[in-house]
Amino acid sequence: SKKIVIKIGSNTLANEDGSICRDFLQNLSKQVHTLVEEGKQVVIVSSGARIAGVATLGRWMRKEDMHYKQALCSIGQVELMDAYRRVFEDHHIHIGQMLLTRDDFCDRNRTLNIRNTLFTLVDEGVVPIINENDTVSVEEIKIGDNDTLAALTANLWNADLLILFSDIDGVYDKNPKIHKDAELVERVRDIEGLLATIEVGEVNSFGTGGIATKIEAAKTVNNYGIPMILTNGKKEDILLKLINGVEKATVFEGM
Ligand code: ADP
Repeated sequence: SKKIVIKIGSNTLANEDGSICRDFLQNLSKQVHTLVEEGKQVVIVSSGARIAGVATLGRWMRKEDMHYKQALCSIGQVELMDAYRRVFEDHHIHIGQMLLTRDDFCDRNRTLNIRNTLFTLVDEGVVPIINENDTVSVEEIKIGDNDTLAALTANLWNADLLILFSDIDGVYDKNPKIHKDAELVERVRDIEGLLATIEVGEVNSFGTGGIATKIEAAKTVNNYGIPMILTNGKKEDILLKLINGVEKATVFEGM
């Protein structure tokens, strides 16, 4: 695979206390650097703005008010990009921020524009870091979760592979956080068949998608002939190991 989209969930990016995990980001940038040296192209879709916003303000915000949440994202997005910039700078890689909404994928002109920007950034050796533009995304126009955003991005960019990083090794027959005997599903060709046989459990506090949106994302990209891998992004050198086929994961092979 030459063109790889990597989606990073809040659970992967943040420590238990909600602060951004520098070790994770350092390891990520090192791996992306290796891939780029090998001639691969990488686009990142990153969650974590809200959790970083909470961590920055130094206490857990309990308010459910929408504008309050959007304000947290506004604060946290800066922290997030600052953290990415620092670790990529160590490898002399520039990053570019793209904040998108559902409208950007619905309107033809906007879609063409973001497509051109994405291709231009990558052609220039820049690693684009994409997130939903939470400060303008009210409920009705929201994509809502970055699994979907990553899938739309992979299709838009004609990626060769989509990798979703989470805090679990892949899709299990039931929620592995609750059931110790849950079994990993390693390969998926028939997504409807998979859905009929597994239990889709609930999500943790900062995960907005859960396993359901990840499976939905696989459907979206598989329809365009793009395979998707779901795996545990917290493991050291996971990208490099995955590409050499030595890590646990669920591979949605598509057609
Ligand atoms: P992220 O923030 O990394 O995108 P989420 O928290 O949104 O991740 O979704 C992953 C979570 O979904 C897992 O940590 C797990 O607790 C839960 N889950 C529920 N059912 C399943 C299942 N059948 N297989 C795997 N994970 C599941």
